Amino acid sequence: MNELLVFICDGAPVRGEIVSISSAWQAVLERRTDPPAVRRILGDFVGAATLLSASLKFEGTLIIQAQSKGPIQLLVVECKSDLSMRATVKLSVNPAEIAPNATLGELLDATHTGRLVITLDPKDREPGQQPYQGIVALQEQHGAFIKPVTSAAEAIALYMQNSEQLDTRIWLSSNETHVGGLLLQRLPNSGGHAHLDPQISAEGWSRIQALGETITEEELLNLPPTTILRRLFLEESTENGVRSFPSRPIRFACSCSRTKVADVLRMLGDEEVQSILAEQGIVETICDFCAQPYRFDAVDCQQVFKTDLLSDATRPPSGGH
Ligand SMILES: [Zn+2]
Repeated sequence: MNELLVFICDGAPVRGEIVSISSAWQAVLERRTDPPAVRRILGDFVGAATLLSASLKFEGTLIIQAQSKGPIQLLVVECKSDLSMRATVKLSVNPAEIAPNATLGELLDATHTGRLVITLDPKDREPGQQPYQGIVALQEQHGAFIKPVTSAAEAIALYMQNSEQLDTRIWLSSNETHVGGLLLQRLPNSGGHAHLDPQISAEGWSRIQALGETITEEELLNLPPTTILRRLFLEESTENGVRSFPSRPIRFACSCSRTKVADVLRMLGDEEVQSILAEQGIVETICDFCAQPYRFDAVDCQQVFKTDLLSDATRPPSGGH
């Protein structure tokens, strides 16, 4: 089960998605050594990223970043519009210090400084064009009272409230082997649902939400999307009809490469790289997302900076090194 199912309701202005990820999630985990509490949060965000990227209207990448001064310094999930995804976490403490039952608030918003950054990066971005980015705090402020976010689903909901005009509900669940998620989105009263009376449309949205609320973590983690859809909308499908599209596969894929590492070495500069070589005999780095090691010995490094000289000739002088 590594699939995402999109459905629409005929009798209500609602579009939905159900996601179920197993081996692609295990591929993320087997490259990492995060403690259980961190894995659960990462899994929920993996589910969220796939759900959100499936509604992208362009080819590109959706990136969810959670940043904080707490034990989780940075969490990143990237999902492309072809539903290939990768994920990583950077901790600021020894993993052994993280309690198995630590909450999202404790790990990502310990000092009420946590925030969620969601970036939509189109593949065919014009040079100089910035990707779209939305930022939301991981806590709600009601006067002097601060209410920390307690789950990834709640964090995503806050982001949606702040950035999207469409009402969206999201349910997420994850364990050591599976990630499951459900997304419901209220569509504007136009297009295919223009015929719906506003009141019927509002009732439809509350009815579908109420059905969504009956989903259990157990179902999200264990059932294939088509079964979940049938169970949730049993009545809906006989009365009004729920139509689903062919499910789309989700896979783990990392976009790191030796060429990209060489670019980073060029950014570090010849001097810095030479000092690493002098100290360690080799420049070695490991991809944060897939744990692929990259090694550059003295000859490789020479090659890296030879290419730099060539490309520098075509670049205007920047006054760098
Ligand atoms: Zn990688």
